[in-house]
Amino acid sequence: MSGATAAATNDDLFRRSKKSIPGGVNSPVRAYGSVGGTPRFLVSATGPYVTDAEGREYVDLVASWGPAILGHAHPGTVRAVQDAAARGLSFGASTPGETELAELVRHRVSVDGDGPVEKLRMVSTGTEATMTAIRLARGYTGRDLLVKFAGHYHGHSDSLLAEAGSGVATLALPGSAGITAETAAQTLVLPYNDLDAVRRAFDEHSERIAGVIVEAAAANMGVLAPARGFNRALAQIVQSHGALLILDEVLTGFRVGPAGWWGLEASQVVPDGRGWKPDLVAFGKVIGGGMPLAALGGRREVMDFLAPLGPVYQAGTLSGNPLAVAAGIATLRAADAAVYARLDETAATIATAASAALGAEGVAHTVQHAGNLFSFAFTDTAPQNYDDVRAQDTWRYPPFFHAMLDAGVTLPPSVFEAWFVTAAHDERAVSRVLDALPAAARAAAGATP
Ligand code: PLP
Repeated sequence: MSGATAAATNDDLFRRSKKSIPGGVNSPVRAYGSVGGTPRFLVSATGPYVTDAEGREYVDLVASWGPAILGHAHPGTVRAVQDAAARGLSFGASTPGETELAELVRHRVSVDGDGPVEKLRMVSTGTEATMTAIRLARGYTGRDLLVKFAGHYHGHSDSLLAEAGSGVATLALPGSAGITAETAAQTLVLPYNDLDAVRRAFDEHSERIAGVIVEAAAANMGVLAPARGFNRALAQIVQSHGALLILDEVLTGFRVGPAGWWGLEASQVVPDGRGWKPDLVAFGKVIGGGMPLAALGGRREVMDFLAPLGPVYQAGTLSGNPLAVAAGIATLRAADAAVYARLDETAATIATAASAALGAEGVAHTVQHAGNLFSFAFTDTAPQNYDDVRAQDTWRYPPFFHAMLDAGVTLPPSVFEAWFVTAAHDERAVSRVLDALPAAARAAAGATP
């Protein structure tokens, strides 16, 4: 059999893919494991819509798990990639575009000209960015231990999978097989939003902790914004012990605002939040506009520990790929104040309507949001950490998800993921979502454990 034909159903395609690809998918959550049913095989996407192999169009609230901030196949981004492709797909040498993108990021991630990114190293995935960050923290400090928070997801490198969110949470795994006990023992996992736990960890291991990694606002156990002032206090504790604070903005960066969650906190959430800065920041998703691009930025002194200047090795055949860089520049240039205002408004409209629909059916829930990222937890007490999130009525989500899907709306196929809107979600797309909500809420109300 050759390529997929127009007549192939999603069922056919899933059956076929499972013969050649583990679980039929190239990333676990795509398998619909926690919601059941057959994953949709997508063949095209434009604006707020995706179309599956059966020719059915859906309003998309996944947005490629974040990158498609402008909407799918945004004409400016597509043109930039086509132009770049015509000049060559990959050179394995430096290009002017990489410097342009690095300057753009440095400039954007700042408030009143002051920001945490003095230098930037480009990689291809968020996993590489955080993996490099922890190696750099260890190389710079000469210490071995790493601290992370339960329910936070930072990609799939060995040190970072302990009690992770996203697919690890969806599959209810404590971590992953294949990680040595020695590696696991070098990662301390603490409850989120618990500064006393952080203080205790430093009291016990002060001379050994190289760095603390934290999602800028947690969004891989559903959305769970940090308690007010948590990030700033965390920075203060970590840095006073000579360790590095690694802020993971892979998901939040350039999505919740032009300067990511850090920028939002610095200018809005904590009024005088400018007093804190992470030492390193990981970016991904939006920075590549849908192409494989991610980056690690931070303080000059720390970043210069990377090869070729310093002793910490990091490299990549496709790092700073010209097509990905072109997509990133086009996306960031187009993501202006009007785009963020629109994302905020659309997110609020959908979140409010979904909450009203669930409320009307008597379904206990809390609306979880961090900027324009949002999700719902099926509980009546606002969760503070991963234990709270896991205690919700997760079984209410699959029927809710499928009712939305039947009505032509794709949600993330796990209750532990954020919903993503794009700037292309117009009135027509939003009303299709709103129209689908009452039946989905009824399905959630009728669910049984
Ligand atoms: N960090 C965070 C906060 C993420 O949400 C993700 C992916 O979802 C990653 C890191 C890993 O990025 P990637 O999937 O590009 O490796």
